[in-house]
Amino acid sequence: MNKSSADLIEVFSSIQGEGLLVGLRQVFIRFSGCNLTCSYCDTEPDRTQYCQLESTPGRRDFFQVENPVPVDRLVNLVSGWQRGWPGIHHSISITGGEPLLCHQLLQELLPALRHYLPIYLETNGILHGQLAQLLDHVDYVSMDIKLPSTSGYTDLWQAHEEFLRLAASKKTYVKTVIGTDTEDWEIIRTAELVAAIDSRIPLILQPFTDLKGRVNLSAIRMLEMQETANRYLQEVRIIPQTHKFIGQL
Ligand code: SF4
Repeated sequence: MNKSSADLIEVFSSIQGEGLLVGLRQVFIRFSGCNLTCSYCDTEPDRTQYCQLESTPGRRDFFQVENPVPVDRLVNLVSGWQRGWPGIHHSISITGGEPLLCHQLLQELLPALRHYLPIYLETNGILHGQLAQLLDHVDYVSMDIKLPSTSGYTDLWQAHEEFLRLAASKKTYVKTVIGTDTEDWEIIRTAELVAAIDSRIPLILQPFTDLKGRVNLSAIRMLEMQETANRYLQEVRIIPQTHKFIGQL
């Protein structure tokens, strides 16, 4: 990928299925590649030869373009949708994979896109050095805290903390995927980490949701985890991946 073009998986219009902006309509720009390999990941890990571009927002009339996709093409697509369908999108989700791996490209792309809509960055919350270079061009940050029981990673706490210290200057919330093996100490450590920066930052407990929208974790266990986190934080919500219920991407 050169500085003015991006390796993408897809660009489309849909509802945000997770977190605080759940249900709002967004333009999704999904970057390929990630610096992690979480156990529950359902994203294609490798670069794909083609990117799927939606022609009409929300109609799934995709066509293929070869990667990498030029920045100009993305900006023209978003500006065209804004002209043709004014007001339907709340913001642009920059997602992945891990989009911060493309931080140099994002320095060029985000200011151009932000001319049309606010920028919502979805990230695994590790690459704080790269975030620092982009914060001025971002409106919302959705960052993960990866739990050992669901992601398989045990040593990301320090990186998450440094990331959240930076992201806290924006409209930021923390999302963590919980599962049947998640233990109380993981919820406590997550809540303590967030509270040490700002106890008003929302924490979303996201029960692992399979591709058909099924959640295995019991309601009682979810409520127990919420009670545990609420001892440290003002706003703890339980939100599954809702877009899977209606068969959306
Ligand atoms: S951070 Fe996200 S995209 Fe990367 S491996 Fe984990 S779940 Fe997949």
